[in-house]
Amino acid sequence: MIKKGNPPQNHCSFCGRGEEDAMILISGIEGRICEVCAEKAQEIIDQELRKAGVEPPKGKSAPKKDGAYSGPLKVLPPKEIKKILDEYVIGQEDAKKVLSVAVYNHYKRLQQLESGNTKLFEDVEIEKSNVLFIGQTGTGKTLMAKTIAKLLHVPFTIVDATVFTEAGYVGEDVESILSRLLQVCDYDEKAAERGIVYIDEIDKIARKQDNPSITRDVSGEGVQQSMLKILEGSEVLVPPQGGRKHPEQKLVKINTHNILFICGGAFDGIEKIIARRVNTQVIGYGKKDMEEIDKENLLQYVSAQDVKTFGLIPELVGRLPVIAHLEPLDRESLKRILTEPKNALIRQYKKLFAMEDIELILQPEAVDMIAEKAFEFKLGARGLRALCEGLLTDAMFELPGKAKLKAA
Ligand code: ADP
Repeated sequence: MIKKGNPPQNHCSFCGRGEEDAMILISGIEGRICEVCAEKAQEIIDQELRKAGVEPPKGKSAPKKDGAYSGPLKVLPPKEIKKILDEYVIGQEDAKKVLSVAVYNHYKRLQQLESGNTKLFEDVEIEKSNVLFIGQTGTGKTLMAKTIAKLLHVPFTIVDATVFTEAGYVGEDVESILSRLLQVCDYDEKAAERGIVYIDEIDKIARKQDNPSITRDVSGEGVQQSMLKILEGSEVLVPPQGGRKHPEQKLVKINTHNILFICGGAFDGIEKIIARRVNTQVIGYGKKDMEEIDKENLLQYVSAQDVKTFGLIPELVGRLPVIAHLEPLDRESLKRILTEPKNALIRQYKKLFAMEDIELILQPEAVDMIAEKAFEFKLGARGLRALCEGLLTDAMFELPGKAKLKAA
């Protein structure tokens, strides 16, 4: 295995790879070993132990039996799922309902499969229902996906679609979406295969409409194409540590058939596309229909067709059959977000202060003002945190360590 020639100073003593190629180089007294050779060495040890009749101890690379996510799935009916979502997510009734049904159907199908009840699937194969969330930033898209994963107790990860590029270009391979899922469940492949992935900013990889056909759209359409096989359900070879696949890296095979993908994006400007479509459809149906359209909130009429016009390729839209829209948050919702959810911001700050034996009281006018300002910022609920931090930093700096005081 030792390579001839002059290996670089910091190199693997077994294969000669330098530190720039190896992900990990472990130093010993006489030399170094890279992660690939260490793994190979472990395999040889395991083989030798087995030959000697000894079962090798289960390491990280061996499939886990009792990982944090093992055990049967507990699937609640859609109404129950929505009730739990209600505890964390304010408003967004439509999106919560649509998500509860999609998640219920997805995991019910999985539960049947896991219990060995494959009879149900003999004549009709139920396909999974990946979800597409469309709504402005800070309206709760990620929060909903996160809450669902917590509720089901399945591995969950968030990835940003903008970091991926087509294979062969600078950037990450789309397969590393699955590497992250593997990492969160400590490489428990079985658990990862029933996890949830939230792909944020999916709208940012839309096809550029003015892209000349002779140049490659490396970060747009190309990435969409490479996402297809992951989203639909196939066996994908995944680099366990993420990043780019390289020839010597050991790859893990992950079946994505039962992984639920939730994609989200703001889709800035999609309202215009919806308006155009709705207007042309309404023409010919009489004046009454036209009047019934709520022009203030066109997002509620969003369809797969609009998403395609926006720039997602039809094959990708086809793999995201459930589309839900999230409403922009008004002042009242922002106020409720501050105080009502189980882990509401104000509750979090109260707890922080309580740890110092300080009681934090926010007058209703203060809550109104924070909500009003956040509404003006147009950052959805994201603005709330920045505002609260700004307001409370002085108190959080001055008060700890002092005697019991009241901060208002
Ligand atoms: P995005 O829609 O951009 O994915 P997030 O879900 O990440 O937004 O929301 C950002 C933060 O704002 C969350 O941590 C959450 O606390 C809060 N938030 C946003 N929308 C809601 C909502 N509808 N109900 C409760 N909290 C919300």
